[in-house]
Amino acid sequence: MTTKLNWDGGKLVNPDFFLTGEDGSVSLRGGVCATCNKYFFPYKEVCTVCFQKTVKETPLSGRGKLVSWSVASQPSIMGLESPYCFGYIDLEEGVRIYSLLEVKDNNFEVLYKGKELQMTMGFLYQNITGEDIYTYKFTPVETINGGGD
Ligand SMILES: [Zn+2]
Repeated sequence: MTTKLNWDGGKLVNPDFFLTGEDGSVSLRGGVCATCNKYFFPYKEVCTVCFQKTVKETPLSGRGKLVSWSVASQPSIMGLESPYCFGYIDLEEGVRIYSLLEVKDNNFEVLYKGKELQMTMGFLYQNITGEDIYTYKFTPVETINGGGD
């Protein structure tokens, strides 16, 4: 299942990271090699495993398991308020992705290795011309589903 989120058209941190649909949806823009079946994020034209130019663009599931994470206690130079959290997630396709993690009420105690996470979209920073810039983030699956654990 591919995570497709409704998107209001806000400015994306890097449009090459996303596939946006006419229906207002957004998903991660990955690639899959037709020769060796390796998945990539972000999309790249040449496979870094078999070096063939047989990589096809594909939306990624946006679902995976937490590998490692850190909580920063200082604001970032981009303007992220502390505390904030970032880490690595292994997506269902076998792609390891680096992302900010969004946890309800900054309760980072809910995180553990292997925790199931799902892609969401969120505010990243305001650029020099005052535009809000958005990016993908990952959040516990139960946050998306409205429950708690
Ligand atoms: Zn390949």
